[in-house]
Amino acid sequence: MIKELVKKSKIKKALLVEPNFPIANKSRNHKDFLPIGLLKISSYLKSKDIEVKLLRFDEDLISGTIDFKPDIVFVTSLFTYWSSYVTETVKLCKKKFGVDVIVGGIYASLMPEDCKKNTGCDYVHCGVFEEAEKLIPDYDLVDVDYQIIHSTRGCIRRCGPCGVYEIEPKFTYKKSIKEEIIKKKIIFYDNNFLANKYVENILNELIELKKEKKINYCESQSGFDGRILNKKPFLGKLLKKSGFKNPKIAWDGSFDEKDNIRKQVNILIESGFKPSEISIFVLYNFEIPYVEMERKRVEAWKLGVQISDCRYRPLSADFDNYSPHKRTGQSKEDYFIHPKWTDEEIRLFRRNIRSHNICIRLGSKYYSPSAERKRISIDLARKYRMSDYKTAKKHIQDAWNPAEFHENSKSHLI
Ligand code: SF4
Repeated sequence: MIKELVKKSKIKKALLVEPNFPIANKSRNHKDFLPIGLLKISSYLKSKDIEVKLLRFDEDLISGTIDFKPDIVFVTSLFTYWSSYVTETVKLCKKKFGVDVIVGGIYASLMPEDCKKNTGCDYVHCGVFEEAEKLIPDYDLVDVDYQIIHSTRGCIRRCGPCGVYEIEPKFTYKKSIKEEIIKKKIIFYDNNFLANKYVENILNELIELKKEKKINYCESQSGFDGRILNKKPFLGKLLKKSGFKNPKIAWDGSFDEKDNIRKQVNILIESGFKPSEISIFVLYNFEIPYVEMERKRVEAWKLGVQISDCRYRPLSADFDNYSPHKRTGQSKEDYFIHPKWTDEEIRLFRRNIRSHNICIRLGSKYYSPSAERKRISIDLARKYRMSDYKTAKKHIQDAWNPAEFHENSKSHLI
C-alpha cells in the first residue's frame, strides 16, 4: 500500500512522526524505543528521491514551530494503551498539513479498524513493509551508536498472550546478516532468534566479525527460546563467542518447569555466561497467581540470575495508567488487573523483583531500602555490605531477604 501511494501521489516531501509517547527523556534513544520502522521507511523514500524529515516526540508539531511542508505524513504507533498519543498526533498533522496520513506500527497492526476510526488517519499499514525491510535503516536521522537487526520475523510458536502472530503471521528468516552490519553494537529485534534455521550461520558470521573487531557486542531484545537451547546446547557457546551479552530465557509456564529452566540456565553458564548477567523473563499479572510467581522468583534466586519482568496488559487494552509510585494503590479503573491478581500483589511482586535484581547485581545477600537511599550511616552500610541476611538484619532493620518467599506487602514496605 505504501509503495502504491508513493508511486501515484508524486510525493516530494515526507514527514515521519513519532508521537509524544510517555517515555522518560533519558530513554528516548534507548534501544527498546527506537522508531526503527520509520527509519526503514526513510531509507525507502530516500531511494525514491523523496526528501524526508523525522520528527521525534512531535513536540514541534504541538508548539507549531515545524518549518516543513510535507506531501504525506507517516506516523508510527506502539502499544495499544498508548493509542491516544497516536490519535493526538494524527489530528495535529491533519489540521496543520491537510495531507494524507498513514499510521503503521504495533497498535495499527493489532487494531487496524480501531486505529482508522479513532485516529482519523487516511490509511493504516498493517505488519511489515516488505520493500523497506530489505534496506538498512536510516541511522542518519538519529543519534545512536548501535544498530537494530531483524534476522527473523514472526515466530514458530503461538503463545496465548503474545501478539507476534497477528503482527507478523509468517515466520521468515535470513541466511546471512553480515552485509547489514554498519555499527559495532548490534541489537537483535527478533522475536525468536534461535528459531532461524540458519542461526548457526548467523552466529558464525558474528564470531568472524568479532574476531575482525568489526563488532563489539550483540544483544537480543527478546528472550532466547529455551526449548531450542535444550535441543541444541552448542548454540550457547556460539552465542557467547559471538559477543552476546545479558542473555534472557523465558519462563512463561508453571513452577513445575523449574528443572527445565535450571537446565537451560546451566547451558548458558557452561557456555561462559556469568549467572548474574543472565535473566529469566517472566510475565506477571496473568494466569499464574502471585504465590506461584513468587516461588518462581525464589527459584531464580537459587540459580543466581536476575528477573526480567513484564506486567501483562491485554493486547486490546486502550489505557494503562499504572503508576509504580502510588502508595495508596490503584484500581481496575486505572489499569488492567488480572482476576487472579490484586493491585497489592502486583506492586509487591514488582518490588520483590527490583530488590532481587539489585542483590544479584551487587552480589549481596540482602536488600535494604534505607541503605539504598542513604538513610543509614555509610559506616553501618559498609560494615554489613557483604554480610549474610541474618547478621545484617540484626543491625539494619529493613534488610530484606531475597532467598525467602514473601507472602504479603507488610513484609517489605519501602
Ligand atoms: S515464543 Fe515468544 S515471540 Fe514466540 S509466540 Fe511465544 S511469546 Fe511470542
